Amino acid sequence: RAKSAGGNRFELADPEADARAITRHGLTTALPTALDRGEFFIEYQPLVHLGDGSVRGAEALVRWLHPQHGVLGPDRFIPLAEHTGLIVPLGRWVLEQSVRQAREWRERYGDGTAAGPLRINVNLSPCQLTHPGLVQDTVDILERAGVDPDALCLEVTESALIGADDDLLKPLRRLAEMGVDIALDDFGTGYSNLANLRRLPVSILKLDRSFTQSMQQFPADPVDLKIVEGIVSLAHSLDLAVTVEGVETGAQAEQLRILGCDTAQGWYYARPGPPERLHELALVDATG
Ligand code: C2E
Ligand code: MG
Ligand code: MG
Ligand code: MG
Repeated sequence: RAKSAGGNRFELADPEADARAITRHGLTTALPTALDRGEFFIEYQPLVHLGDGSVRGAEALVRWLHPQHGVLGPDRFIPLAEHTGLIVPLGRWVLEQSVRQAREWRERYGDGTAAGPLRINVNLSPCQLTHPGLVQDTVDILERAGVDPDALCLEVTESALIGADDDLLKPLRRLAEMGVDIALDDFGTGYSNLANLRRLPVSILKLDRSFTQSMQQFPADPVDLKIVEGIVSLAHSLDLAVTVEGVETGAQAEQLRILGCDTAQGWYYARPGPPERLHELALVDATG
């Protein structure tokens, strides 16, 4: 923000904030046409079964290859896309690409991987949830690709569902009835209302990275251990599977496996990467 210093001279109140505002403005301007220009691409990060180490699928994570700024992570542009409404067509594009990718993996490997056909996780923003076309778009995309709904998992953050009324949950329920898994992303960061879980059509809890981080030390903080243990046992008693995010070390993976978590994701296994990378990982799995 500029502060008037008399005449037409302006003094920067906070040069860094100003630079951020300029970049933000530039990105907002470039965003609407970026989809048509083909500047978005998707990286895939494997989801690994903690029990046997097999690759079960991957999460699709969108990136923007900006002509001036290089590769931008979703934290830089998803909020802008939500603000401008571009998130709906962008989200649809991500879903379509990811589902097609899942079909390619499944065609290539079928049940050939250690754990059967690979599945795909796609993030949904709150704006997509309230968009009336969500269910039909998803059905169309799955049909066009010839992919079973049970190959797809849609990730919704806990905060997007806080205080959700039945109208908001209806499309998610329809998708869940079709066989699409719904995962509660970043679980444990919001005002987790554990009792609330019962009325949400979710089948997977994705435990936030902050829990994984607290497993860094060995032995881990006993209170954190109790909390994770409690969440896992509650989740399992409600028939929910537990996925952990942000696993960076073998010690974390081992601790979380002992605590009963089902699936893990993180740099320890692989960073998000191009789809061929998953081919390699899944193949190693199936043969070794
Ligand atoms: P998320 O869904 O919770 O995704 C996990 C994030 O953790 C990803 O960040 C991933 O790269 C990062 N990560 C994975 N393993 C590790 C690890 O071991 N250590 C650390 N420190 N980080 C790890 P990314 O790719 O920057 O995505 C950030 C967020 O952007 C995602 O969080 C998701 O909420 C959102 N996002 C990404 N793609 C999409 C999309 O297509 N649509 C929507 N609506 N949101 C998306
Ligand atoms: Mg996610
Ligand atoms: Mg997450
Ligand atoms: Mg997260």
